[in-house]
Amino acid sequence: MFEKILPIVLESMAGAFIDVGAFVGVVLLLFGYINYRQAGALLGGIEKSKGWQPVLGALLGLIPGCGGSILIMPLFIKGTVTYGAVIATLIATTGDSAFVMIATMPRQFLIISAIIFALAVVVGTLVDKTPLGARLLASYQASKQQKKEIARLHKLEGKHTFAPHLGHAEGDEVDIALHHRSAGHQASGTLAYRLTHQGYIFYLGLLAVGLVLAVLGAAQFDVDSFLPPNFVLTVGVVGALLSMILFVASKKFLAEETHEEVEIKAASLKETIIHAAQETAFVVSWVFVGFLVYELTVLLLGRGDYASGEALIETFLMATGLVAVLVGGLIGLIPGCGPQIIFVTLYSRGLLPFAALLTNSISQDGDAMFPLLALHKRSALMASVITTLLALAVGFLVYWLELHTNLGAFLNAALGN
Ligand SMILES: [Zn+2]
Ligand SMILES: [Zn+2]
Repeated sequence: MFEKILPIVLESMAGAFIDVGAFVGVVLLLFGYINYRQAGALLGGIEKSKGWQPVLGALLGLIPGCGGSILIMPLFIKGTVTYGAVIATLIATTGDSAFVMIATMPRQFLIISAIIFALAVVVGTLVDKTPLGARLLASYQASKQQKKEIARLHKLEGKHTFAPHLGHAEGDEVDIALHHRSAGHQASGTLAYRLTHQGYIFYLGLLAVGLVLAVLGAAQFDVDSFLPPNFVLTVGVVGALLSMILFVASKKFLAEETHEEVEIKAASLKETIIHAAQETAFVVSWVFVGFLVYELTVLLLGRGDYASGEALIETFLMATGLVAVLVGGLIGLIPGCGPQIIFVTLYSRGLLPFAALLTNSISQDGDAMFPLLALHKRSALMASVITTLLALAVGFLVYWLELHTNLGAFLNAALGN
């Protein structure tokens, strides 16, 4: 069995680093740069635009990654953004899964984005027509610490972060909840900090090599003919190992970024690049797990025979489609981006129906659920209930349509299957 599993593990490592990671790194740097240039302006824009907030929230949620969504959450408890905008943002957020979709299946990403944007705007606007937001805000106001108590705590504990705040101020309730009481940025001076904040240059260098190999590979160029034997595999395996070292050193397993880090990145291009490397390593590590789960499922389905396992995938899919939709919705309940990446990876390998991917995209809230939980639990739980129920309802409907109408054929054509 070991001689069957070892090549699978190595191939999965190389695939995660070269076929997915290299492109993810480029997209991450690009959106990191947009965040660095625009985060403050986007935030000011949504606070000022009453009435359009669910639309702008949905747009911020759509931006790949979690930065925009994370910054929206405190604005609700401050009372400058509606609860409908929060819901719209969370429906539209696909977190780090977005990077994997852009890198491996841009067509699916566009279709999913269009659907979740429309859903986010409609549901967010409807939520704002109900008294739900006002009630949650009142419950927050009743439960929050007194101004005097917040000031006392802040005086006692001092300043916790040195980047300029986005959407809130030093010493306010958001500062206490998100900089003092939640995980912020890694403490400097530790070995792990040196690995993530100095080792990133080496990591990005290897990622650039991976990118050249990935582009040549995608252009059907026979790289093996002029490179030493197993060169691509070696780069991929070493890259995946480095990714896992960075992943462990950054000590972020489910979620990739915190509110404090989003602020730090908006203030420093260097931190933006460092954290883009960290986030790429996070995505590569989770994609590797996804690939491994797929390969082992195939091996298991074929009872040790890979080819007969692959032949059984279609039957497996028919039998498990409905369960996959349910699981996609439930995995979406887990805060953070890690488990969602496995789900996207399994879809990209053909193990899940489109409806399941859609369900998970609606249901998941990326890293934005953590700051909301830290600020006000009831608002966070209510948001989870709304996005999960909506995801399951839409998911089951789309799955039924996929099976019983022309939608399945239409989707297959649109998705290029
Ligand atoms: Zn802050
Ligand atoms: Zn940093």
